Amino acid sequence: MKPYKGGVRHDYKDLVFASSAPRRERHWSLFALGIALPIAFVTPLTIGRWGDDAYSTAHDPHLADIVVNVSRRLADVPSALSAPLADSAELLPLPENPAARFAEARALVADATAPMLELVVKPGDTLERLFRRHGLSLTDLASIAKLKDVAEHIKLLRPGDTIRVAHRDGQVLSLLREIDRFRMLAIQRVESGFDAKTIDLPIEIKERVAHGEIRSSLFEAATAAGMSDALTMSMAGIFRWDIDFIQDVRAGDSFTVIYEEHYRDGVKLGDGEIVAAEFVNRGTVYRAARYTDESGRSDYFTPDGRSVRKAFLRAPVDFTRISSNFDLKRRHPVLNTIRAHRGVDYAAPTGTPVRAAGDGKITFRGKNGGYGNVVMIEHGGNITTVYAHLSRFSQHKVGSRVKQGDVIGYVGATGLATGPHLHYEYRVNGVHQNPRTVPLPPADPVPPSALADFKARTEPLWERLDRVQSERFASAAAAN
Ligand SMILES: [Zn+2]
Repeated sequence: MKPYKGGVRHDYKDLVFASSAPRRERHWSLFALGIALPIAFVTPLTIGRWGDDAYSTAHDPHLADIVVNVSRRLADVPSALSAPLADSAELLPLPENPAARFAEARALVADATAPMLELVVKPGDTLERLFRRHGLSLTDLASIAKLKDVAEHIKLLRPGDTIRVAHRDGQVLSLLREIDRFRMLAIQRVESGFDAKTIDLPIEIKERVAHGEIRSSLFEAATAAGMSDALTMSMAGIFRWDIDFIQDVRAGDSFTVIYEEHYRDGVKLGDGEIVAAEFVNRGTVYRAARYTDESGRSDYFTPDGRSVRKAFLRAPVDFTRISSNFDLKRRHPVLNTIRAHRGVDYAAPTGTPVRAAGDGKITFRGKNGGYGNVVMIEHGGNITTVYAHLSRFSQHKVGSRVKQGDVIGYVGATGLATGPHLHYEYRVNGVHQNPRTVPLPPADPVPPSALADFKARTEPLWERLDRVQSERFASAAAAN
C-alpha cells in the first residue's frame, strides 16, 4: 500500500501520463508548470513506482477490498479548473494600489490631522494582535467589533492587507479597512462610541481584447497576449467543460478574450471579469459570454444560450491521481475474487476540500460503516452522489441546499480506508454509474423569458469576436 505521501516533485517532465503520446508531454508539462508556479499550486506529488504502484483501499465492505494497479496516472488537475467558475474575485490578485483609495476614504472621515498608522497584516495577525503591537486601545477595538456588520470585515485579515488607524494617544479616531476592490469599511469615533459605514470606491472599467495563438503552451501564448496567469486560468475555467486543457490543447489552437480591467485615477488595480471568450481547439470553435440574470447570478453561455457548464463536476475534488477506477469486474489480486468497485477513488492529501458535484440537498451526513464519514447529496433527475472516507465535514448539514462547487467536507481515511482518498459515487435511480464516463446533464440554459435580452446583450460581443477572427485571417493572408 502506498498512501499519498511525498514531497513536491520538481522534475515536471515526469508529470506526463505514461500512456501519453510524446507530443502531448510538452503541453502537459508546460501547462502544469505554468499553473504550478504562478498560483503556487504545490500539492505534493507522490514519488516513486507508479507503474507497479498499488493503492490498497480495504474499505467499503459491500464494495470489497481492493488492491488496484495504477496503470496510468492522472496528475494534479489545477484547483482553479475543478473549482466552480470564477464568479468572484477569488482568482484575482489583490489590488496593487490601495494608497489612493485610502486617501479618498480618509477625506470622508473626520480628523484628518491626527496621526495615521498603517498596520500591515502579517501571516497569523489578528486585529487584536495589531492593536496590541501598536499600543492602540483594546477597549476601542471591542466597541468597534460590536458594531453591526463590522465583525465579518475585520475578523479575517489577509496577509499584506493594510489597515489604517488614526489615533490620539492610542484612542482610535477612525479606522479604514479595504473590504475589496470596490468597498472600504470606514469606522469613525462619534459621541456615543463608534460609527461604521461602507464607502463605495469609484472604479473605471476598461474593456480589453487579448488574442493569442498557441505554439508551445497556453500560458506562453497568453503571456505574449498580455494576459495574467489568473486571467488565463479564468479563461480555461470557462471552457474546461468542453476542452481538456491538460490533454487536448495543440499548437495552432487560438483564443480571444474580451475582459475588463479596473482602474482608479489612471492606475490599473487589476483585471475584472471575462466578458466573452473564444477558444479554437483543433479547428472547433468554442464561444462563451457572461450573462447576469435578473436575480444577479452570472454565468457563461454559448451564443444560443446554453450553459457552458454541466450540472455536475466530473471530479469533486482536486485530486492528485485516480487511485482506483470504477470497475464492476475487478479481480482482487490477493483474494482472487471478482468484486465490484462502484465508485472512483481519488487519492488526495487529508484535508483537501471535497465539493458538491452539483446543486442539490444533503440527505445524509455522518458515519456509515466502511464508508466512514460520508455525505450523500440528492440532485434533480433522481441522481444521488456519495462522498466517503471524509476526515471532517463543512458547515452544510442534512437538509442543507448546496450549490455545485460548495465545499461539503474534506478528504480523509475514515472507515475502512488505508490511505487518504475520496470515494465518490454517482447513482442514477439508485444504480451506480461510472463517474468518470457517465454523460453529465448540462447546467440550466438562459431561461426562455430572458433569451431575447441575452441575445441583445451578447450580439455585440460575438461581433467583436468575429472581427478579431477576420483581422487575424487578413493579417495571416498579408504575411503570406
Ligand atoms: Zn472506493
